[in-house]
Amino acid sequence: MIDLCSQEPKPLLSVEAALARIEAAFRPVAESENVFLKDALGRVLSESVYSPINIPHDRNSAMDGYAFSSQDAHHEQPFTLTLAGTSWAGRPFKGPLPPGYCIRIFTGAVLPDEADSVVMQEQVFVKGQVIHFLAKARLRQNIREIGEDIREGSLLCTAPKKLNAIDLGLLASAGIDKLVVKRPVKIAFFSTGDELTALGLPLVSGQIYDSNRYMLGGLLTDASYCVTDMGVIADNKQLLEERFIDAAKNHDVVITTGGASVGEADYVKEILERCGEVDFWKIAIKPGKPLAFGKIGDCYFFGLPGNPVAVIVTFQHLVVPALKQLSGVSAIKPWQLTATCTSLLKKAPGRQEYQRGILSQDQYGEFFVASSGKQGSNILSSMSQADCYMVLPIECQGVEVGDKVKIELIRNAEII
Ligand code: AMP
Ligand code: MG
Repeated sequence: MIDLCSQEPKPLLSVEAALARIEAAFRPVAESENVFLKDALGRVLSESVYSPINIPHDRNSAMDGYAFSSQDAHHEQPFTLTLAGTSWAGRPFKGPLPPGYCIRIFTGAVLPDEADSVVMQEQVFVKGQVIHFLAKARLRQNIREIGEDIREGSLLCTAPKKLNAIDLGLLASAGIDKLVVKRPVKIAFFSTGDELTALGLPLVSGQIYDSNRYMLGGLLTDASYCVTDMGVIADNKQLLEERFIDAAKNHDVVITTGGASVGEADYVKEILERCGEVDFWKIAIKPGKPLAFGKIGDCYFFGLPGNPVAVIVTFQHLVVPALKQLSGVSAIKPWQLTATCTSLLKKAPGRQEYQRGILSQDQYGEFFVASSGKQGSNILSSMSQADCYMVLPIECQGVEVGDKVKIELIRNAEII
């Protein structure tokens, strides 16, 4: 079997070569802005943050129990101490702790300077104001020292970093209220095609509903992107050209789907050539060989294929790395693992294929993968059932049941 789509006068660009071009072409947006911490989830930090305080700020207890000085304790025998008061979280014990005394203390409550030990409440018994400690009570334990988590002036978060929920927690623990982050990448996207019908209208013969725009809208949902959905544009050269120029004026990136191939009504490349620069890529990837990449002024342009699965595969593998770089973070290669294939997979040499699969793991931790169904680039149902790609290299001539294949998780946070 021969992959007819790979029979080109010029060799197709490998996925790695296309990624290297992306890495060379995209620079992070230069501008930054201030945001409140509560609005910073998913934004890209552009200035590193240092802690203005020690964390913990005070010496405090790691347990609910009784705090005392080890000098007042007996190291081998049971001993007793008299209760001097209580230290609550947020309401410290006031006053010095005299010799022979202990205090009731709760988790997070400040320790008196004299105390160096906390014994948990389950290990004492209380008779009125007298606290009985057991023999060999563990001394100098259960204390959180000042700055043991973070030292004042030390690095909390290093820029550039896409902030996650844990980062917000860490920054909040240091009292950081405002941050400097990259401004969002401005992205416009639209669908092209005479056959596209808006949802809510009945389908006339020969027409289809526009699924790509809804998918892209979802794939582009990210706090470091500011996205404009520009709707559907018919296969009309003049209209397309006007929209391209218009979108490029106030966006960093324009993404279109459809019309990027070499059919009679595929105008994207021609128009891009007229109003900008085109670097048309025929990539050794399946699905999704044709991809019009270029620039209109300072705006980057991606003309993705029309078939929905080709849109997802090219978006995840080529557009996401570019958008990440623009947003200020470097793209991380998706995790790959190896699984035993339980389906027969047809494949002709010539392109790297991303076939859709369903991953499972047996009781011994071994991974198995099965095809999720038909693999045509229009078959969205098998894409929706899949949870991984089976990545078949260019030279692969098909996979037998029992062969090992490379797997890439589709919902890997780094590629979506
Ligand atoms: P094209 O590249 O424009 O020739 O489109 C290739 C295939 O993808 C055709 O079958 C189109 O009908 C289909 N297609 C194009 N755009 C969309 C879209 N927005 N949603 C769903 N299918 C589409
Ligand atoms: Mg079309």
